[in-house]
Amino acid sequence: MSVHIRFLGGAGTVTGSKYLVEHDGQRLLVDCGLFQGYKQLRLRNRDPLPVVPGQIGAVVLTHAHIDHSGHFPLLVKEGFRGKAWCTAATRDLCQILLPDSGHLQEEEAEYANRKGFSKHHPALPLYTEADARTSLKQLRTVRLHETFEPLRGWQARLTNAGHILGATSVLIEVGGRRLLFSGDLGRPDDALMLAPEPPPQADVVVCESTYGDRVHPKEDVLAELGPALTRLAARGGTAVVPVFAVGRAQALLHAIGQLKARGDLPHGLPVYLDSPMAVETTELYERHVSEHRLNAAQCRDMERVARLVTSVEHSKAIARQHGPKVVLAASGMATGGRVLHHLTQYLGDHRNMVVLTGYQAPGTRGAHLAQGTQSLRIFGQEWPVRAEVVQLTSASAHADADQLMAWLTQLSKPPHRVFVTHGDMEAADALRARIEHQLGWRAMVPEHGSTWLA
Ligand SMILES: [Zn+2]
Repeated sequence: MSVHIRFLGGAGTVTGSKYLVEHDGQRLLVDCGLFQGYKQLRLRNRDPLPVVPGQIGAVVLTHAHIDHSGHFPLLVKEGFRGKAWCTAATRDLCQILLPDSGHLQEEEAEYANRKGFSKHHPALPLYTEADARTSLKQLRTVRLHETFEPLRGWQARLTNAGHILGATSVLIEVGGRRLLFSGDLGRPDDALMLAPEPPPQADVVVCESTYGDRVHPKEDVLAELGPALTRLAARGGTAVVPVFAVGRAQALLHAIGQLKARGDLPHGLPVYLDSPMAVETTELYERHVSEHRLNAAQCRDMERVARLVTSVEHSKAIARQHGPKVVLAASGMATGGRVLHHLTQYLGDHRNMVVLTGYQAPGTRGAHLAQGTQSLRIFGQEWPVRAEVVQLTSASAHADADQLMAWLTQLSKPPHRVFVTHGDMEAADALRARIEHQLGWRAMVPEHGSTWLA
C-alpha cells in the first residue's frame, strides 16, 4: 500500500504549511498553517481544503508560529475531530497565539465593515477567538524523542529543531516508509535557542528553504542594533520594532538588555513591549528553561528589559511619552496587530525609525518597508514613510543555506528524495540546485496542491 504526500501549503511560498500524508485510507496532516503575505495567498485561506477535514485522522504541529498552526481552529470548525500532537511548549504557545489570531481576525473584519473598505459584505473572520479556544481542546502533548501513534499503525517522533520554543522536526513511519519533515530549522548559533538536532534517517525529507538562497552575515545582532538605537536615541526619535510575539520579541529584549549592560545604550532609554502575547511568551521561557540557552535568572533579566504593556490604554499612552524610546509590538511583518497603530503614529517623521527584525514575506508591509517604499497602506489609508528603516540581517530565527545543507548532510544515508518547501521560489530552487549538485540527491520543489508518491 503506497504512501502519498500532498502539498496543501508551504509549497513555493513560506506560509500556509500543510502537508497531508495519506496511506491506506488514513490521513495525517503535518502542520496546519495560515497563508500570509500577498493577497492571492491570503485568499487561499478561504478556499476549502481538497480533503474534508472530518476525513483527516490526526494532525502533528511542528511548532506554534501561525503560518504552521493558524489554520487549525478553522480545521476544527470545519469538522476535524482527531488529535493534534505537539510538544508542551508548542501547546502553551498555541494557547496564546491561536485565540489571538481569532481575535485579530474578528477585529479586522469588524474594522473593515465599519470603514467599508472590504470587498466582502459583510467581511467575516475565518474563525473567532471562541473557535480557537474550542480547538485547543484537541491538542495532545508529547515529549521529544518519544514514539507515539497518531493513527493506528502509524508511528511518529519529534526532534528538536531550534528556531523557537517547542519547535520540532517530525519523523512519520507508515507503510514501510520513513518521512521526515524538517519544520522550521533554527540556526546553530542562535543566541537564545539550542542548535537543531541532527536529522534521523529517512527515505523522504521535506525540508524548509526560507533562506535557501542566502547566507547570514557574520555580524551579530548587537553590532547591528547597537549603532542604530544609539543614533535614534541621539536624535530623540521613536523606534518601532515589529516583532513576532514568539521568538523575535525575546531575542530583541535579550539583545537590548545586553547592550544596556555593556553600556552601549543609555540605561534610561525606555523600551516598551506592547504585545500581551509577547509578554506571556516571555514568561514561558522560564517554564521551559531546559529548551533554550538562558537560565532562570537570565529569563527574568530579559523580562525586566522592557516595560510590559498589556492594556490598550497604556498602548495609546506610549504616544504621549516625549523623548527617545523603543516600542516592540507584533506582528513581525506588520501584517496586523498593535504595531500598525504605532506605525501610523511614527512613520511620518524622519527622526523615527522602523527596525525590521527577521524574514519579511513578499507582499507584507514589512517587505514593502524593507524595499524602501515611499508610503504604506494601513487601515485603508496611505501613510508617508519618512522614518529611517533599518533591517537587521542578523536577527533571523532560521538556518541559512549553508546551515540547511549542513543539517541535511548529517543524514546517515541519502534519502530517495528531498522535497524543498517553505521558501519563496528563488530560495527553494536555489536550495534544490545545491542539494542536487553538491550532494547528488534527487530534490524537487513541489507545486501547490500537488500529490507525490513517498
Ligand atoms: Zn516558524
